[in-house]
Amino acid sequence: MSDWSRAVSASAKESAPPGTTSATRKAPEATTSGHRGLVLEEELLFEQGSPDLSGVDLPPVEAFADRLGSLERKAPIGLPGLSEPQVVRHFTRLSQKNYAIDCGLYPLGSCTMKYNPRANERVARLDGFAEIHPLQPAATIKGALQVIEDLAHWLEVLTGMPAIALSPGAGAHGELCGMMTIKAALESRGEERRRVLVAASAHGTNPASAATCGYEIEAVPSNEKGRLDLEELERRLGADVAALMLTNPNTCGLFEDEICEIAEALHRAGAFFYCDGANFNALLGRVRPGDLGIDCMHLNLHKTFSTPHGGGGPGSGPVALSAALAPFAPLPWLVHGEKGLCLREGRSPPAAQSIGRIKGFHGQFGTFVRALAYLMSLGADGLKGAAEDAVLNANYLRTRLEGTLSLSFPGMSMHEVLFDDRFLEGTGVSTLAFAKAMIDEGFHPMTVYFPLVVKGAMLIEPTETESKASLDAFVASLEALAQKARAGEAAFFHEAPRLAPRRRFDEVAAARHPVLRWRPKAAAENGG
Ligand SMILES: *Cc1c(COP(=O)(O)O)cnc(C)c1O
Repeated sequence: MSDWSRAVSASAKESAPPGTTSATRKAPEATTSGHRGLVLEEELLFEQGSPDLSGVDLPPVEAFADRLGSLERKAPIGLPGLSEPQVVRHFTRLSQKNYAIDCGLYPLGSCTMKYNPRANERVARLDGFAEIHPLQPAATIKGALQVIEDLAHWLEVLTGMPAIALSPGAGAHGELCGMMTIKAALESRGEERRRVLVAASAHGTNPASAATCGYEIEAVPSNEKGRLDLEELERRLGADVAALMLTNPNTCGLFEDEICEIAEALHRAGAFFYCDGANFNALLGRVRPGDLGIDCMHLNLHKTFSTPHGGGGPGSGPVALSAALAPFAPLPWLVHGEKGLCLREGRSPPAAQSIGRIKGFHGQFGTFVRALAYLMSLGADGLKGAAEDAVLNANYLRTRLEGTLSLSFPGMSMHEVLFDDRFLEGTGVSTLAFAKAMIDEGFHPMTVYFPLVVKGAMLIEPTETESKASLDAFVASLEALAQKARAGEAAFFHEAPRLAPRRRFDEVAAARHPVLRWRPKAAAENGG
């Protein structure tokens, strides 16, 4: 019997918490098959597989002179033998157990996955884009170069910055690229600055990127308004500070309202201003980072500009650079030559000061196509509308929920709104348990316990594509759960989720005794 059916029968035996008898509280019956309704249960592929099954029919291998004799495998490697329908069914079932933006509201927002219009996917799959190869002769990829040129142009217009480095393969890679250009610019001035200041509310990748460049990291605390504390920043500035890394809107969903003063303070101290632009969804067409005094900012094409990226990829983290940093942009450079657009691969003028290559080939081309299709299909008014709707939806949730959950910082939020667990005080229900109960309600939980500057954080980003009806349904569930928590039903939350394909995992055991690799019995016996 599989783990799941064990979990079902175990929960069937659980007695209902005291004082609760309603039908919905009863644990589901176990079934003979272990399946539940149309939610099918199955074993892992490695448990299902058998050596005599195969998804392909190949003729037996004829005898041949083995030139790699010494490398010959001594024992089977233990891959499961599976038929084609088994594989198809397995992955289809897995996809059905997952929750996705295509199923319903996904309060993790653009930072994880907002709705990506299908038209952009369609464009990216056109043969002329999808089938080209980076090693094709330059004369045959003029269209692709034009896509890169047009995308860079529109990103420059949106950021108000003079140069875009398109090759970084993710947001964190963009941060690394940006910090490398800052380091190179400082070195060209003959300055060696050791420290990088990072907002305490920052995404963990910020300090990691700066540390990878060899910098010492120092955190700058937030003030009681959830913004960077300007006085604390000024206290830390000095001749050895290379840059500040700040997110705007910050990870509390708030616009850094002293951002121009922050930029001035940094520039007075000879430091650069790095802005984490992963939250650009809120600013599109409304605010140009270049106007705020920002020197360097990465954008996450896969977050803001329509590339599905759940499950780890593909990503793209273009970096917008100020005039002072542009000469250090990574290779290759797209330049207007005698024969039109061409790629400059080496450190020859105008790219003599470039930090060099940071990625193979030319970046994630498929995300460029999707981003350009998104930009062009929405147009200037549509992009601005998307940012406005993202902010409107977050503020609608704020006003609907501020009497129910605890709002962390008063006033207008940007594209996401931050609550915390004070409303659960004395109920015995934790942020985590509350989030798990949302799964039973049919909602993916919001981001919990981040940002770290707020205790028991619950961060909600609905994004621009949710309707009022879907936001209202979300609010209704949160209100009902909050009421249940206040009514002393802590046990209900401790058992959540009860209705999902899997119950709550033992996260401590998973961390303490991780099973990182499945070793099929046959391979283990063969010493494989
Ligand atoms: C997602 C994110 C990053 C990192 O981007 P990746 O593409 O995941 O590497 C950095 N900062 C913030 C605020 C983010 O949301």
